[in-house]
Amino acid sequence: MARKIVVVGGGVVGCGVAWHLAERGLGEVTLVERDRLGSGTTWHSAGNITWRPGPTHDEAVLYAFDTIKRLTAETGQETGWLHTGRLFLAHGAAAIRGLEGYQEQAEARGVAARMIDGREAARLHPLLRADSIAAAWMNPLSGRLNPADLTAAYAKAAQRVGAGIVENCKVLGLTTTGGRIAGIETSEGKMAADEVVIAAGLWSRGLLTPLGIHLAQWACEHFYLICGVTPRLPRGTISFVGPEDLIYGREEVGAMMVGFFDENAKTIDAGALPEPFAFTLLPEDWDKIAPYVERAVSIFPALEAAPVRRFVNGPESFTPDDRPLVGPAPGIEGLWLATAMNSGGVTYSAAVGHMVADMVAGTAPRFDATNFAPARFGERGRDKAWLKCEVSAVVSRGYRETNLVAG
Ligand SMILES: Cc1cc2nc3c(=O)[nH]c(=O)nc-3n(C[C@H](O)[C@H](O)[C@H](O)COP(=O)(O)OP(=O)(O)OC[C@H]3O[C@@H](n4cnc5c(N)ncnc54)[C@H](O)[C@@H]3O)c2cc1C
Repeated sequence: MARKIVVVGGGVVGCGVAWHLAERGLGEVTLVERDRLGSGTTWHSAGNITWRPGPTHDEAVLYAFDTIKRLTAETGQETGWLHTGRLFLAHGAAAIRGLEGYQEQAEARGVAARMIDGREAARLHPLLRADSIAAAWMNPLSGRLNPADLTAAYAKAAQRVGAGIVENCKVLGLTTTGGRIAGIETSEGKMAADEVVIAAGLWSRGLLTPLGIHLAQWACEHFYLICGVTPRLPRGTISFVGPEDLIYGREEVGAMMVGFFDENAKTIDAGALPEPFAFTLLPEDWDKIAPYVERAVSIFPALEAAPVRRFVNGPESFTPDDRPLVGPAPGIEGLWLATAMNSGGVTYSAAVGHMVADMVAGTAPRFDATNFAPARFGERGRDKAWLKCEVSAVVSRGYRETNLVAG
């Protein structure tokens, strides 16, 4: 009899996992989503996929690019993928050194990246003030897509290879026997399972607490604006990250998206969010983003007069070391985790799906998931005060580090 595999959560990660499991023929795969696919964090994601050199990130992103093409070819579902390239902006000597390190590694891989000055950056991005930066690293591989469409593409591909997708079905609890997963209890009844993958985004921690597992994952508020700049940005304008300024951005229907990885990020208790929290945003917080908007204006002066069309404040989960939790749940056989994406879930969804499929299959891993092992924090996830303090700091620290040091 085929193994019964349940995936809990229909965001971009859960759908990516379900497709990989079903495609490999690892069992009878059912994805259970409490609302509609993509309704948690995924729908409001900025959808950027940024390539950087570095052993972990590099391969995961290249696999994401291949997967996006393949999903569209196999399902006909467009993802909105637009290849734009990306500017990494630098002011200070240390940042420039970090980017030069990227450049050396890019060259070694044969990627046509290059270090450029402010004038050339301004030629590539029509709203960038040439003298506002000291240098930039032009990375030609990055782009963006529509995360809801990528989620739909994974779901269609998963269904084509036999996976079941059940929406509007809330998982209420996990059942175990003798240290092994036995199934799930849902709003629609019980479901037996030999393997369960928890991909419930910021709600994952709450699902595991009753089993005595305290994941080192906590949610923070995470922001971007859509600004109606004049002149409008051409579609396909190169996107940017500013690791020292903690900003990023891109074109969005002629307007400019500007997002922030703020210091002392505001933590949110996922269990205290209103229900249903589907296609829902958090309240605007202008004071929190003001310093970063100011830095963005100094580089892109057109932002100053641009009307803000949309303020997106959505929850995303982070871990103390800025790495996801992917792998076996400590102490319960047959229970797996694919959660806490540290604002990279769209980017990592393909690689994480592959990692989970390799683990469930027991085959040699294509991607090294050692650094993502959920057990790496031991029992420290029990300490909520510690956890909140750590994730509040990691949003900005992780962004600075990952965008300047190959990882
Ligand atoms: C403002 C913002 C910008 C971002 N920009 C980027 C970006 O540019 N690039 C990038 O790669 N990433 C980005 N991210 C991060 C990315 O969006 C997330 O990492 C990703 O969407 C997380 O996907 P997920 O599937 O883990 O979680 P979710 O999308 O939250 O999915 C989890 C699902 O589980 C369901 N669920 C929860 N509890 C239960 C239950 N009990 N029973 C059944 N179902 C349940 C939920 O309803 C939800 O649909 C951004 C995030 C934010 C907030």
